Amino acid sequence: MSHSHADVLVVGLGPAGAAAAAVAAALGLSVLAVERRAEIGVPVQCAEWIPAPLGAYAQADGVSAQKILGMRTCLPSGAVFRSEARGLMIDRARFDQALAATAERAGARLALSTRLAGLDPGACAARIAGLRSEREIRFRWLIAADGPHSSVAHALGLKPLETVHARQYTVALNERDQDTSIWLSGDYPGGYAWLFPKGSVANIGLGVDKRFARDLKRPLDALHRRLVEEGRVRPGIMSRTGGMIPVGGLRERLVVGSVLLVGDAAGLTHPVSGAGIAAAVISGERAGEAVAQAARGAPEVALAAFEEDVRDQFETTLARAVVRRKELERCWGRDLAQRDDVHRRGWIAFPEYFAEGPSIP
Ligand SMILES: Cc1cc2nc3c(=O)[nH]c(=O)nc-3n(C[C@H](O)[C@H](O)[C@H](O)COP(=O)(O)OP(=O)(O)OC[C@H]3O[C@@H](n4cnc5c(N)ncnc54)[C@H](O)[C@@H]3O)c2cc1C
Repeated sequence: MSHSHADVLVVGLGPAGAAAAAVAAALGLSVLAVERRAEIGVPVQCAEWIPAPLGAYAQADGVSAQKILGMRTCLPSGAVFRSEARGLMIDRARFDQALAATAERAGARLALSTRLAGLDPGACAARIAGLRSEREIRFRWLIAADGPHSSVAHALGLKPLETVHARQYTVALNERDQDTSIWLSGDYPGGYAWLFPKGSVANIGLGVDKRFARDLKRPLDALHRRLVEEGRVRPGIMSRTGGMIPVGGLRERLVVGSVLLVGDAAGLTHPVSGAGIAAAVISGERAGEAVAQAARGAPEVALAAFEEDVRDQFETTLARAVVRRKELERCWGRDLAQRDDVHRRGWIAFPEYFAEGPSIP
């Protein structure tokens, strides 16, 4: 088995890993980023919405698909509440590829079809496996950007993250739209259903907590049928996808020895909305800066500052969302799950979500 060395080994080239690799390489470190997929971002496992401030990362050709102005939230009674939610629909594969290209231009080495196959954190050594060979990499720091089922976290003995399961179809729209639609109901326990318009098509999908509902296909087919009957979308399904979304909030530790956890691997996805691209990019960049600072001296201080900064930025928001999820957990499978007031308390668009005071009955 051959051996090599990098200052920074990045595992996973989603938005978090690519952002980390780009910054660490731009700040002068030698970076090797490994990605088990053969093509970055493919297959897409995403509804493809990003908040407006992340538009700065969606400038490459073909990344931005359309603007989103608002969100229509549909409650169990049929009441609809519109709120402003400015953002963009993106081509997620191209978004991830553009971030990875930035990392490569900054000097990072990218290895596709290459996975982390073993880790000895104490020795700062990893075994990586390509299609034909395995090799050992010695690193000074490892950035774990390997998503909701992080194999790095597993190798470190960290707890698996709580997740919801999501399933999604891409369908043709009858009329273009500039708002996303969200459905809250007892039919989607632990999650919600969505329609995100993207030019002439839309991503329709849903997420549920498998402890409360095992079947995702039937409710998604029912949503699709209803949207066809209402004349919003066409019957054919153009593509199907799905995936896991971490919903348990931030991990207890974001730094373990020389390993920094970022993005979904760190539990940074919003436990109520499921949005995680922005947090992935921000935490990835911050990790890239932290390892560059660590290389200049006082590594413990640099890594502790990374953890503190990420917590300062995200912990309050994520902790509130975890509380709201727990409140809703008591309602699934009961009449309460069809009450508008219960969902207003549990969904980010409503003032009740941010109110202090007694929880859902
Ligand atoms: C159906 C669905 C819809 C979503 N919609 C949205 C949305 O509209 N907006 C939003 O903001 N968020 C959305 N999310 C969440 C969002 O996709 C994630 O938060 C985001 O991808 C996190 O980025 P990441 O870089 O941390 O992880 P990922 O994007 O998951 O990247 C991790 C990478 O690591 C690689 N990897 C894993 N293990 C290894 C290994 N052992 N070796 C090498 N490589 C490895 C994987 O192949 C992957 O490419 C959605 C998620 C799902 C499942």
